[in-house]
Amino acid sequence: MSVADRLAEVRGRIERATRDAGRPAGSVRLVAVSKTFEAGDILPALEEGQRLFGENRVQEARGKWPALRERHPDVELHLIGPLQSNKVREALALFDVIHTLDRESLAGALAREIPRLEGRPAPRLLVQVNTGEEPQKAGVGPLEADAFIEACRTRHGLAVEGLMCIPPAGEPAAPHFALLATIARRHGLATLSMGMSGDFETAIQLGATHVRVGSAIFGHR
Ligand SMILES: *Cc1c(COP(=O)(O)O)cnc(C)c1O
Repeated sequence: MSVADRLAEVRGRIERATRDAGRPAGSVRLVAVSKTFEAGDILPALEEGQRLFGENRVQEARGKWPALRERHPDVELHLIGPLQSNKVREALALFDVIHTLDRESLAGALAREIPRLEGRPAPRLLVQVNTGEEPQKAGVGPLEADAFIEACRTRHGLAVEGLMCIPPAGEPAAPHFALLATIARRHGLATLSMGMSGDFETAIQLGATHVRVGSAIFGHR
């Protein structure tokens, strides 16, 4: 199957899951995760009208997106991988949405750099929650999430828009998605970035507004 075929299939599955969940059509956005894939693989998705893309490394995104964007200026680029504080300025030059705000030092760095963005709108920010409390995984722990979201808003003046999570591999994802939705509700956060190739329908059932789908569209990495 081609990228175009797989993209059409994923779109159909998102539509169906949205309807089955009793949610309004179009309420779930697809972030096509193009990490490790080159322009030649990404172009067919752009030609099919896909405009939201996710990348997990600043460096890699910088290498391929400026040229693609010249042809498609309406692309919205989402950073879904960890962000080092010393890469914040570069990240702000590339990304429209950052899904991985997860520590005070990063919140501080963003708060310092955002006012320097001349002409460009501030990025939309999601806090990553390590719902499975996995030591090797980025994200703020579920017990620290409330205080961290508050600190981002009040201490750093950041407009946090939502939450993101990556459930532990080999565990049912639903309880993690439900936990993320509960934390978001408590803070009046409208955006929920959850669900990947293997579990996006479950995420939609539990309220995802953004699903991050890579291999189901572009193939194995
Ligand atoms: C790679 C990646 C995805 C996409 O994963 P697939 O299983 O290929 O759909 C989603 N979210 C994050 C944070 C990723 O790093």
